Amino acid sequence: MEAKQLILKARHVTVAGHISPDGDVIGSMLGLGFALASMGKEYVLVLPDNVPASLKFVPGVEQIVEKPKKLAATDLIVALDTSDPKRLGSVYHDNLDLFQSVPVVNIDHHITNNFVATSVILDSSAAATAEQIVDLLHEMSVPIDPTTALCLLVGIVSDTQCFRTANTTSRTLEIAVSLIERGAPLSWIVDCLYKALPVSKLSLWGNALSDIRLSGGIVWTCITQEALHRCNASGEETEGLVDVLAGVKEAEVAALFKEVPGGSVKVSLRSSGKADVARLASDFKGGGHPRAAGFSLECSLDEAQELVIRSVNRLLAES
Ligand code: 5GP
Ligand code: MN
Repeated sequence: MEAKQLILKARHVTVAGHISPDGDVIGSMLGLGFALASMGKEYVLVLPDNVPASLKFVPGVEQIVEKPKKLAATDLIVALDTSDPKRLGSVYHDNLDLFQSVPVVNIDHHITNNFVATSVILDSSAAATAEQIVDLLHEMSVPIDPTTALCLLVGIVSDTQCFRTANTTSRTLEIAVSLIERGAPLSWIVDCLYKALPVSKLSLWGNALSDIRLSGGIVWTCITQEALHRCNASGEETEGLVDVLAGVKEAEVAALFKEVPGGSVKVSLRSSGKADVARLASDFKGGGHPRAAGFSLECSLDEAQELVIRSVNRLLAES
C-alpha cells in the first residue's frame, strides 16, 4: 500500500525523527503532526534525543516526546528525514517488535537511503523532507494552515541554510512561496534560526577556528570535550560550524571532528562539489548528501583525523 493510503487509513500515527535532530526533522514532524490533527487523527511525535535549545521556538515543540522508553500501540509509524533505521536510535532499538508488527512509512531525501519499510518515499532531489511533506499533504488534499506552513518552512529554511545550498531548486522556492502565502513568516523564522546565537556558541567556534588546519584541499578542525566545558557550550552548539569551514576558498572539502563521550568521534563533511562526500560517508557506515554527509568512528580524535584526511585525499585524487 502507498504511504498516502496508509496515512489516510491509520487512526493513530507515531511520527519519529532522527538522532541529533535538526530544523528539517523537527519542522517536518510538527508540520505533519498539525496536519494529522486537522485530519482528526491521534498522533505522537517521538525523538531519540532532546530538542536542541535553538529549535525550541517552533510552535508545538512541547508536544515532542524526547527519548521515550517504550512506544505505545499505534496503527502506523512514520519515520522522517531518516535514511537508515539506526538513525532513529533508541526509538528503533527499544521497539523492534513494534517496527515488525505495524506498517512503517519512511519519508526521506538522502541519496544514501537504505531504509526498508512498508512504503518509502525517497526523493533525493528534494532539498528538505519538509518539501516532501508539502507534496504529500497536497496529494492527500489536506489544507495547510498558517502554523503547519510555519513549521514546514522552518524545515526548508534550515536544511537549505536560507536557500543557499546547491540542492535548492526552483521547486524548493515554489514550495516556500506557497508556505509564505499560507501565512508562514519567513523573516521571523530567519531571525529565530540565524540571529539567536548564544555567546557560548561563538566562543566555542572561535576556539575551534583558531586551530583550523588546511592541507591538500581539505580544511578541518576539532571540538574536544574539554573545549565544550571551557566554553560552557553544549554539543549541539557545533551545528553550523562545518558550514563556515565549507566557505574556505582554498578548500574542496571541509571536515569537523567532534569528540563524543564514550570514545567515539562524530565526523561532519562538506564538499564544494568536486568530491562526493556521501560516498565516503557510506564507506564508513554513515550517510548524507553528495555535498553534506557524516558518520561516527570508534577511535581517538587523532586516529579519526588521520584516517579521514587520508580517505578524503584519495577521494579528491579520484574526482
Ligand atoms: P551533519 O554533518 O550536519 O551532522 O550531517 C550532514 C548530513 O549527513 C545530514 O543530512 C545527516 O542526516 C547525514 N548524516 C550525518 N551523520 C550521519 C550518520 O552517522 N549516518 C547517516 N546515515 N547519515 C548521517
Ligand atoms: Mn533533511
